[in-house]
Amino acid sequence: MQIFFPKEEDHEIRATILPEVAKKFTDLGIEVLIESGLGEKVFVSDEKYVDAGATVCDKKEGFASADVVCKINKPSHNEIQSLKKNSIYISFLDPFNERKIVSDLAEANVSSISMELVPRITRAQKMDALSSQANLAGYAAVIEASRTLSKSFPMMMTAAGTISPARVFVVGVGVAGLQAIATAKRLGARVEAFDTRPAVEEQVKSLGGKFVKIDIGDTEETDQGYAKELTPEQIKMQQDGMKKICSQSDVIITTAQVFGRQAPRIITKDMVEAMQPGSVIVDMAVFTGGNVEGSKNDEYVFYNGVTIIGMSNLPGEVARDASQALIYSI
Ligand code: NAD
Repeated sequence: MQIFFPKEEDHEIRATILPEVAKKFTDLGIEVLIESGLGEKVFVSDEKYVDAGATVCDKKEGFASADVVCKINKPSHNEIQSLKKNSIYISFLDPFNERKIVSDLAEANVSSISMELVPRITRAQKMDALSSQANLAGYAAVIEASRTLSKSFPMMMTAAGTISPARVFVVGVGVAGLQAIATAKRLGARVEAFDTRPAVEEQVKSLGGKFVKIDIGDTEETDQGYAKELTPEQIKMQQDGMKKICSQSDVIITTAQVFGRQAPRIITKDMVEAMQPGSVIVDMAVFTGGNVEGSKNDEYVFYNGVTIIGMSNLPGEVARDASQALIYSI
């Protein structure tokens, strides 16, 4: 069997496979093909892959001959056309929004596997690429916020006086939110968090954060543990309950997502306007529509003294570890 790992698009820093794992495949008798330059952005040369038993080839050759093609990001139209009939294609596919990609893959007689749809069950945990990347993204979001904020995260007692700790508010406590809380706590911030799933209260507390209670009526969860969409009235109740905390926070990290749907719009323009100048918001849901009014994909937006960060590839900020974790998943 041949597995091909093509290079990603220019904006992607992560690599789908590192040599350690390529060796595991070659030891099993699987032929590993990599496109030249696959690991260059994580400082891994082609030679290292060759030492692990992989073969370097160009994109066209790889697509034409491989039985399985693995990527991180969804395929382009040309890539779909280049895939061998009856081969298998694996990557994040964003299947709810990219129906055409899914049907084009089927029409090309290719079986596709969407990494987003790996079941969130114990047995499949090793393959849970969503979680491995969300975890690193939560860390990277806090680091990015701390770099941007003109204030220290920890409390500092100095001869010149006491500096109060930064106040961080995390909205959405799934995998990314939990890591954001843990990272902000480790940096010494005072952390508050809210999620529509009451079950996360214990998890927030166990990390040293304070769970913010907002009564928004009945909320439900799917059997896979995902939040169900709120009604517009419930969103309004949530916004009213969050207003004061938002205005007092130095940093807001939003991670709220509803599986298979647009991210809920939670932080409105007037909530941003109520924040202190110099505050920072990281909208981690920016690529699924955004939790924050005014956030833009891959941009730093400056509004009324507040910086709204909308980086769509936060795991790419820790690309070496993200690449490592991806491989375990695939
Ligand atoms: P996600 O990325 O889909 O959403 C992030 C968070 O946003 C969720 O906690 C969700 O409840 C929250 N949210 C949605 N609407 C909101 C709103 N209006 N306001 C505030 N928060 C809102 O979530 P995820 O990180 O993929 O995790 C989903 C669940 O799956 C979690 O319970 C997680 O622990 C669980 N999980 C289980 C496994 C497993 O192997 N068993 C693996 C990974 C995740």
